[in-house]
This record gives sequence, C-alpha cells and structure tokens, in this order.
Amino acid sequence: MIKLHDKEFTPFLSEAEITTAVAKIAAEVARDYKNEVPIFVGVLNGAFMFVSDFLKAYEYPCEVTFVKLSSYQGLTSTGIVETLLDISEDIEGRTIIILEDIIDTGRTLQQLVHLFSGSNVKEFKIASLFYKKEVYNGEYTIDYVGIEIPNSFIVGYGLDYMELGRNLKAVYQLNQTDMINLVLFGKPGAGKGTQAGFLKEKYSLKHISTGDVFRYNIKNGTTLGKLAKSYIDKGDLVPDEVTIDMLKDEVEKNPEAAGFIFDGFPRTVAQAEALDNFLESKNMKINATIALEADEEILVQRLLERGKESGRSDDQDEEKIRNRFEEYNQKTAPLKNFYEAQGKFHTVNGIGDIAEITGRLAKVIDDLG
Ligand code: AMP
Repeated sequence: MIKLHDKEFTPFLSEAEITTAVAKIAAEVARDYKNEVPIFVGVLNGAFMFVSDFLKAYEYPCEVTFVKLSSYQGLTSTGIVETLLDISEDIEGRTIIILEDIIDTGRTLQQLVHLFSGSNVKEFKIASLFYKKEVYNGEYTIDYVGIEIPNSFIVGYGLDYMELGRNLKAVYQLNQTDMINLVLFGKPGAGKGTQAGFLKEKYSLKHISTGDVFRYNIKNGTTLGKLAKSYIDKGDLVPDEVTIDMLKDEVEKNPEAAGFIFDGFPRTVAQAEALDNFLESKNMKINATIALEADEEILVQRLLERGKESGRSDDQDEEKIRNRFEEYNQKTAPLKNFYEAQGKFHTVNGIGDIAEITGRLAKVIDDLG
C-alpha cells in the first residue's frame, strides 16, 4: 500500500507485467512499420516513461517527438482540451504513431486526432499502453493496446495523482473501500446546492449538480445545452436518457473521487434505477439519500429572491417555479419509496440556520457507520 496526498493505493501491475506489455506493442508496431521510418508522438506528461521504454524495445529506424495537451476536469467540464505544445516537425507524407499512456473516455484522443486531421500524413495510428475499454466512447480504433484495464484510477509508471506517483516503477490502483456516495433530495430552493458545498468540503467528496452541468452547457452553447434549454426554461425535466448519459460522464471524469454528492439526480425512478445499475457496474453504491424538507410557500419566496440575483430564468417566474414543484411531486417524490425499500432514505429539516442544517446532514452521514 502506498499513500499519495490523501489517498491510498494498492499494487495493481508489476514492473514485469508492464515491461511485457511494452515489448508486445513494440513488436507489433515493428511488424507493421520496420520498413519505413515512423514518427512516434508521445503525449506528455503521462507517456514519458512508456515512450522511453518503448523506444528501447523498438529496434528499427524511427523518430520521436512530443505533444502536450491539458484537459480541464472541473465540475462543469465537458472535456475541453487545450494544446500546450504542438508538433513542429514536417510530418507530411509520414507515418505518425501516437504513444499514449492511457486511454479512457477518449476525449484527449479526439483532440489529438483533431490536431493531425489537417495534415497530410501517410498513416495515423494510435498505441496506448493502458486502455479502459469499458469507458471508451470515442469513434477511433485503438490500433495497438498494451493492457486492457478496468475503470479504476491508477498511478505510477508516468501516471499521477495530483502530480505525485509518476516516478513509481509499478502501477497502483486507488483503494475505493471507504467511498461515500450520497444523494441529496429536496424541492427546488430547498438548499441542496448550498449544503452540498459544505458537505463536499467536510467529507472530501465530488459534488455533481446536474442543474449546474446543464447551465454550464447552455452558457457554452454545446449540443447538450441546446437540447436541455427548452425543457429547463419551462421548468420541465430534461429527458431521462440525456440526463443519465450526462451523469455517467461526470462520474467517469472523476475516477479518483473519494465519493460523490449527487445533487439534483436522480429525479425520476428510471434515473434511480440507471444510477444503481451504473454504480454496481463500477463496484460502487449509494450509501444514503437525504431529503431536505421545506414548505413550498417558503421555497417560492426563496427562489424568487435567488432569481433576482442569479438571473436564472427558471427562478424568476412563479408559474415556472410551481411547475418545477409539480414535476418534483409527480416524478421525484416516488423515489422516497424506492430508497426506503433499500433502507437508505433519510429526511432532514431544511428550515433554519444554514450551519445548523449542515450539522443535521452531517449527523445522518456520521451515523452511517
Ligand atoms: P436544478 O438546478 O437542480 O434546480 O435544475 C434546474 C433544471 O435542470 C431542472 O428544472 C431541470 O429542467 C433540469 N434538471 C436538473 N437535473 C435534472 C434531472 N436529474 N433530470 C431531469 N432534468 C434535470
């Protein structure tokens, strides 16, 4: 067991297993390209160790260069990737082989393909030492794969957790046993977002607010944002399949999280079922769902006040607010039975001093054992 920052990691792949995988990729690439001079493109920072060992195992003429991309992984990220170091060589007519340390969702890969799409290369291939097949949802085939791995967070051999761990010779996996996953329920205005902000600090959790993610997408004019806008503007729920996919994506983006606070999700029984199935497939589960209870008339006043400051269109019109309560009462309230049947439903009085309410929520969480 090793500790990096606040987290513990257990051994996952030995140095010998990694060496074998690197040699396997080198042999496969050599089989295909030994009669020409390919340009290997390492993706910094994570791939530096792989590139180094790969080149030592590749015994034919070749060139090497590097690119560096940065991806923003914030709560509202939709996977915007920026190029920090571009390719400077003349690559026209050449065979390019990307060397990646790890491919998971495929977001970085998409950006890489985009980087090269304007150039007139002879061939463009992708080799990745580690590949999370289950979570990959890109459209490009990975041509050479070292080791397929499940969707756990790994460090070592060039890969980091908040910049530590890159110098480890073996690969380690995050220890997930003490993960806490919470669902915060409550009518619009009940204080879910405010309380999630405190709880995420107290318990080092990742806060996912589906409403925030939608608003971020609307602000940035993404396809998802355009799709969601018409529903949100009316105070209706966004269709389940859109919301469920988005939620999964947010969870996948944070494999190192010590747990999640789901705020505003699930809001329908179909979403709750999808969440259970999804978490189970990742060896995770919901520990507790907590409903913040508050009287509708108080909430209407709170939301109208909030609307003046935030400018949120769905907070400014009493009719839309009432429609959101209606959606809650019809579609979200039945989740009480769903989680009660699992013994995971708790309620907390959501009226009072903010810190006092945080205390009530913390008591429920601390009593989970
Ligand atoms: P919120 O910020 O949580 O109040 O969400 C604002 C709006 O985003 C809601 O009124 C819905 O239109 C949409 N939304 C947020 N979460 C969900 C969800 N789980 N399912 C469907 N629609 C959602």
